[in-house]
Amino acid sequence: MISPVLPTYARAPLHFVKGEGTWLIDETGRRFLDLGSGIAVNALGHANPELVAALTEQANKIWHLSNLYEIPQQEALAQKLVDVTFADTVFFTNSGTEACELAVKMARKYWYDKGQPDRVEILTFSGCFHGRSSAAIAASGAEKMVKGFGPMLPGFVHLPWGDHDALHAAIGDNTAAILIEPVQGEGGIRPLPDQCLQGLRKLCDEKGILLILDEVQCGVGRTGRLFAHEWAGVTPDIMMVAKGIGGGFPLGAVLATEEAASGMVVGTHGSTYGGNPLGCAVGKAVIDRISDPDFLDGVRARAGLLRQKLEGLVAAHPDIFEGVRGMGLMLGLRCKVAPADLVKAGYAAAVITVPAADNIVRLLPPLNITEDEIAEAINRLDQAATSLETA
Ligand SMILES: *Cc1c(COP(=O)(O)O)cnc(C)c1O
Repeated sequence: MISPVLPTYARAPLHFVKGEGTWLIDETGRRFLDLGSGIAVNALGHANPELVAALTEQANKIWHLSNLYEIPQQEALAQKLVDVTFADTVFFTNSGTEACELAVKMARKYWYDKGQPDRVEILTFSGCFHGRSSAAIAASGAEKMVKGFGPMLPGFVHLPWGDHDALHAAIGDNTAAILIEPVQGEGGIRPLPDQCLQGLRKLCDEKGILLILDEVQCGVGRTGRLFAHEWAGVTPDIMMVAKGIGGGFPLGAVLATEEAASGMVVGTHGSTYGGNPLGCAVGKAVIDRISDPDFLDGVRARAGLLRQKLEGLVAAHPDIFEGVRGMGLMLGLRCKVAPADLVKAGYAAAVITVPAADNIVRLLPPLNITEDEIAEAINRLDQAATSLETA
């Protein structure tokens, strides 16, 4: 008999009833160190007092307002994002997938309004993940996501990751945009080297192509800068954001330059919940905290410490690990064992990690994880690795 919840997830039998900072507590009172953050969502940890205050203060005033009316919380968050990024304008969504939908629509409408309605092609790269809607799975093209779901939304060109010749060959008169994650998340914590992102920007400028960055997982402080593309010193035309921006409240956004957004006039897009006052009040508290240069300095310091200790862990378990990769607090342990086995051994040692493609176990701890918690994380990962060695 089918379960009351549609059985699309392979869930671990863990029953968490409470979260506190970097900790998740199960129904027996056992405390798990959370190095997954709900896949880079709980950027400031669980039940963060500042976020709880922002949410409850707003909850006592007004929960929902239609976008038929002005929403001051939305304007405040948009203004803050415009102040601290390349963007001139922001549309709020409830998820990364919806941000992908709008990014695709925005790029195509841009060229339509420029009198080039055939210019609809969007180039994407193997291993990418942009969500699970019809447009987002078409963008990925991965068989495990598209198989069985009927005709795909046309206009996506799938290229091998890191293949310059294929990229140049794919660009033509109908190329509207390039869509890429500065650090692939689901694809296995694969950072795009700075010079590649700079090269993409240059290529887009030369050919008049829009550059869309998906920073749903790598954005909002995760790499030690507010957004990952800042490391390369270039800016996109359109950027997708979600996950960390709500700190656990469902919130996403598309940020864009005035030029790239020029087609999105009244009536071209909308969302009932997008930019909801609760989400925007929390998002504002998240961005206020994470965009603080001192906070980002701290993220980089903690990331350096975690990375150094992980290198030690890898050296201590050469049969389990092959290496560490990633940026900031978006790190991947490349495994010689099945990543799912290490994640499971982690559960037994009360430490939460997340598997990804390419034999990677992801570490995406809250950005405010403490030094003591980093030390404890290494102890528990060491226990997990040891249990696989002796198994
Ligand atoms: C998670 C993710 C998405 C999809 O976001 P949802 O909120 O699950 O819809 C899109 N892109 C990237 C890079 C992601 O990690």
